[in-house]
Amino acid sequence: RAKETGKARCVVYTPRASGPTEDDISLEAAMFKAVREGEFMLYYQPIVDAATREIEGFETLMRWKHPTIGMVPPARFIPLAEANGLINLLGAWALKAACVQLRHFEDAARRPLYISVNISPRQFRSDKFLDVLDDALAYSGLPGERLVLEITEGTLMTDPVHAEAILGKMAERRARIAIDDFGTGYSSLAYLKNFPISVLKIDRAFIRDLPGSQKDGAICNAVLDLARHLSLSVVAEGVETEEQMQYMGERGCRYVQGYLTGKPMAANVAVAALTERHYRDVIRDVRKDVTRD
Ligand code: C2E
Ligand code: MG
Ligand code: MG
Ligand code: MG
Repeated sequence: RAKETGKARCVVYTPRASGPTEDDISLEAAMFKAVREGEFMLYYQPIVDAATREIEGFETLMRWKHPTIGMVPPARFIPLAEANGLINLLGAWALKAACVQLRHFEDAARRPLYISVNISPRQFRSDKFLDVLDDALAYSGLPGERLVLEITEGTLMTDPVHAEAILGKMAERRARIAIDDFGTGYSSLAYLKNFPISVLKIDRAFIRDLPGSQKDGAICNAVLDLARHLSLSVVAEGVETEEQMQYMGERGCRYVQGYLTGKPMAANVAVAALTERHYRDVIRDVRKDVTRD
């Protein structure tokens, strides 16, 4: 394969199953250009209160709009960025831009919301991470408590000693920590005891077959029970049907996120949704006043 890619390029021989494919290599080259050209953007998916259906916050999801191939999904480019280190740059941008964006969302909604941002293992390990976090908060003026940082169990477990130190620093800044894709990684429940975690996001693998699946139901109930006793919030990911929403809501899951209550959307679409909602409330209040007079 080294010969096929030609020229004076160094290609490491690795089994095809685990090594980079030629598509990966050209995608990677395109990625550096994409950073320069500004082809990356952020989408926002509503996180909704299951009881009131109010938007309480948004998860920030990165998108790459390639000029010829179109939308490249994060599952395709995040692992490459993680491998070549570009994730540090992209992640720093995402964090800062998301904090700034939240201020606009709050202006449109006229109430406090929160923003959730995914932090990759490599970003979390980087010794620049706390500077990046401080810069995002200072630049945006966002109070730390309105920021949620999503990390996975794997991020915590690879180096628990380092993780504990960083999580402590995040807590000092009042940013909350969410465990993303909860229940799907290699982990030990001991981290819930030792680390300052605030939110569990139940992976959509456990939501998908609800309410039919008894096993998934049992797992969700156990997580909700655990969260209740540890005073953690729970977000159900990947809620696509009314039945799933009702099932989780009835069992005490406060927040849901999924296609049912809103797909990931461009910032201007999210602002429109928040503004429309705000005006509906204003009109309702005015009507009440008018009928009272
Ligand atoms: P995640 O953090 O678990 O994000 C949730 C994913 O589930 C998103 O996929 C979202 O579009 C999708 N999703 C939400 N609701 C539903 C639903 O009802 N049904 C289904 N089938 N899917 C739903 P997306 O945007 O493709 O992102 C995939 C993953 O890529 C994310 O999983 C996250 O691990 C990673 N990612 C995305 N943006 C970033 C980022 O800015 N930084 C880092 N480090 N990772 C990111
Ligand atoms: Mg996430
Ligand atoms: Mg997730
Ligand atoms: Mg997930």
